Amino acid sequence: MDEIYASLGLGPEVYAFGGKVLAGLTGRFAAIDAVAEYNQAKVLRAMQASRVSGACFATSTGYGYNDLGRETLEAVYAAVFHTEAALVRPQITCGTHALALALGAVLRPGDELLSPVGTPYDTLEEVIGIRPSLGSLAEFGISYRQADLKPDGSFDYDAIRAAISDKTKLVTIQRSKGYATRPSFSVEQIGELIAFCKSVKPDVLCMVDNCYGEFVEMREPSDVGADMTVGSLIKNPGGGLAAAGGYICGTTACVEACARRLTAPGLGKEVGANLGQLPAMYQGLFLAPTVTAGALKGAVFAANVYEKLGFACVPNAAEPRHDIIQAVTLGSAERMEAFCLGIQAAAPVDSHVTPVPWPMPGYDSDVIMAAGAFVQGSSIELSADGPIRPPYAVYFQGGLTWYHAKVGILMSLQKLYERGLVSLKEIKNE
Ligand SMILES: *Cc1c(COP(=O)(O)O)cnc(C)c1O
Repeated sequence: MDEIYASLGLGPEVYAFGGKVLAGLTGRFAAIDAVAEYNQAKVLRAMQASRVSGACFATSTGYGYNDLGRETLEAVYAAVFHTEAALVRPQITCGTHALALALGAVLRPGDELLSPVGTPYDTLEEVIGIRPSLGSLAEFGISYRQADLKPDGSFDYDAIRAAISDKTKLVTIQRSKGYATRPSFSVEQIGELIAFCKSVKPDVLCMVDNCYGEFVEMREPSDVGADMTVGSLIKNPGGGLAAAGGYICGTTACVEACARRLTAPGLGKEVGANLGQLPAMYQGLFLAPTVTAGALKGAVFAANVYEKLGFACVPNAAEPRHDIIQAVTLGSAERMEAFCLGIQAAAPVDSHVTPVPWPMPGYDSDVIMAAGAFVQGSSIELSADGPIRPPYAVYFQGGLTWYHAKVGILMSLQKLYERGLVSLKEIKNE
């Protein structure tokens, strides 16, 4: 084992340190496996109940009328998420698109959107118009309000109650922390928040940005009252195999509105060729529970490694997980670059390139991204990224297998270690 790792560029000090950390994680890993086992059965049952057959894998082109595979896949997603309906399409280009679609589908001029969990994910700022942008909801006369979290990361129910008005049509709840160092929310917490919002205003709609959260727990936000649960197929539910796409699972009324927004009024779900993407979308969903479990083990391992070295981690080494993202506050741009270099060096694709910060569309500061992925930008694959701004936190996620996630984390440490950016003494003290 030492030898094969040495051949990857991993020194004995870092490898031995990793081994010691890992020895303490047996119980955590068993709990992750139990959730994966449950979710595997849930996905399997959904595929059986929806009568998935070989005919579902056929390619459709053009309008894509009467696409059995597309309709069955949407039935499978609805069964997994326990919703009335689902829209699952390769034409939904990414997570931001899925969220923008859901917002644009149900909001009308004069309506107000509320985020009761503070500022939403960076790319949504332009969608909503928090940062002015051509085509934003603000340009269509849709206003926005937010209630910030309390300093301890909990919901500020008084502020939320005060923010809900006659105009409030939709509440958007982001499950995962995104590029913030607040905690991610459990499905149970999301359920409490939805129940609270609906107790203040019974007809308000609740949407959950479920990116990175799928299959981390036994339940999804749609099990606790969300009208729309939204995510990206190049994150957890695509299982690393889906080449592109997004999903919206929810009530028939909401999903129909989304379908009409994606295609056109009058067309809705009836059109949308699958372009040969369905086999990967089905098989990826089938693998998603175990792929997510591998990524979760990587996240837990990373938190335990970096916390021992004195870096603040969100979630911390011991906390339960509600998504696959691990934030590590490295405190400097230099360390962020070394960390990302290690993740990149551990990739199966593009391991020879050096990640450099760049002004990524949709983000308001330079972002560094390390990813050597089979699918471009896929963050269920081993990846790390973060905006170059204080507190200089890197967000680590993914790994199609736990063993690959392990190599990636150890390689990130190797690069920090080689550049003298972590103290060897602390490693030896272990
Ligand atoms: C990734 C992500 C998005 C946006 O997804 P893209 O596919 O990058 O557009 C939105 N919200 C959260 C919480 C995310 O993690």
